[in-house]
Amino acid sequence: MTNETFDNPWQGALVRLGEAAERLKLEDGMHEMLRHPRRTLEVAIPIAREGGGRMTVVGYRVQHSLTRGPGKGGVRYHPEASLDETKALAMTMTWKCALVDIPYGGAKGAIRVDPSALAVSELEAMTRRYTSEIAPLIGPDRDILAPDLGTGAREMAWIMDTYSTATGFLQGSSVTGKPVEVGGSSERRGATGFGVVVCIHHEVERLKLKPPIEVAIQGFGAVGRTVATMLDSDDRYRVVAVADETGGRFDAGGLDVTALAVHCDAGGPLSMVPVGEQIPADEVVLVPCDVMVPAAIGGVIDAGNAGRVSARLVVEGANAPVTPDGDMTLADRGTVVVPDILANAGGVVASHYESLRAGWHTESADIRGWLEQRIGSAHARVVEFSERTGLNLRDSAMCLGVESVITAHRTRGLYP
Ligand code: NAD
Repeated sequence: MTNETFDNPWQGALVRLGEAAERLKLEDGMHEMLRHPRRTLEVAIPIAREGGGRMTVVGYRVQHSLTRGPGKGGVRYHPEASLDETKALAMTMTWKCALVDIPYGGAKGAIRVDPSALAVSELEAMTRRYTSEIAPLIGPDRDILAPDLGTGAREMAWIMDTYSTATGFLQGSSVTGKPVEVGGSSERRGATGFGVVVCIHHEVERLKLKPPIEVAIQGFGAVGRTVATMLDSDDRYRVVAVADETGGRFDAGGLDVTALAVHCDAGGPLSMVPVGEQIPADEVVLVPCDVMVPAAIGGVIDAGNAGRVSARLVVEGANAPVTPDGDMTLADRGTVVVPDILANAGGVVASHYESLRAGWHTESADIRGWLEQRIGSAHARVVEFSERTGLNLRDSAMCLGVESVITAHRTRGLYP
């Protein structure tokens, strides 16, 4: 790998694929094919503003691979979303679904918008128009949408309703992460965080970290908050720092996570909650701790700050929070990184479960057991590969994921 800075997530994704291709000794033609998303759609979404006038935002849907099953991937609403980021995230989904052996390909969607700047009626209109624009590409057997940064069950209900209305019948399996009332799973919102925690437990045991294990978490949404809440209720762990986009809170003696959650439920940003000491949002990755969980946005640990990360273990709740050059610095320091395609795969595992159950209510314990088994066995395979080859966990996970996609390609053959 070069020592270049990878500001562009798509370049980073290609570098990681290139390294796996080299390790797996992939022929050039196969590698070249995987470097290209199968389909890329960019759409313009005009929105009528509540106060009059209109604005137009840009959206994307990228299907990187449909070889192992229909496309699968979240929809992100973020002011810095881009086509390159969406392509990178779609490719990541391909390896993730393959690694945890879920019969889906890889896809991703995004709208370049700040959702907090829109009224609810504007958000709904934007979501419905986006769905209508990408409708020719999606559907239960083509490409299944899910929540991501800036979206949740509410948006999934709007997407499902729009797609169902357009096709003339209920299309419950066109999205996962739906509200429970329309066939969603009560465990889906917390599933990704749950999978992160499963990985933390396994790694803490493998690395023989001793309690109290201090944890810092960036992001206090679906993923970060679940991790914070679960670890806070476990005597072995102490949550010393959390951050959302407004700022972070730090207390070396352990934060009162319940108080933070209550404050956030009341609509308050973390920067304003009178718990612990205030720190800048991006400082949370650098606070003294044993385990760092980046669970917000991509690229937060790079060549510029990786040398100051104190954690022994970084578990990627977010997608691509560590850049390839950040990885090199962390490796030099002996920091173990559990890669996104393993650590945050709980969401897609629970999504698959939601689809299999097709709207039937399921006991939480069933889903958690399924998650624990799926993430636990993928973790064990990655560790076994790593110990056998001497590769780190990311490179091992990438090799396993890419290899599984390649096997499916070879088995299916090439049309025409
Ligand atoms: P979310 O919208 O529910 O929460 C995001 C959180 O990150 C919020 O607390 C927000 O304030 C915070 N944040 C945003 N920018 C920040 C910054 N610059 N510094 C600090 N905090 C910041 O999103 P989510 O669903 O929890 O997703 C978080 C990450 O996990 C994303 O990278 C997403 O792609 C990834 N992920 C999510 C899922 C899922 O099931 N939700 C699955 C796999 C991966």
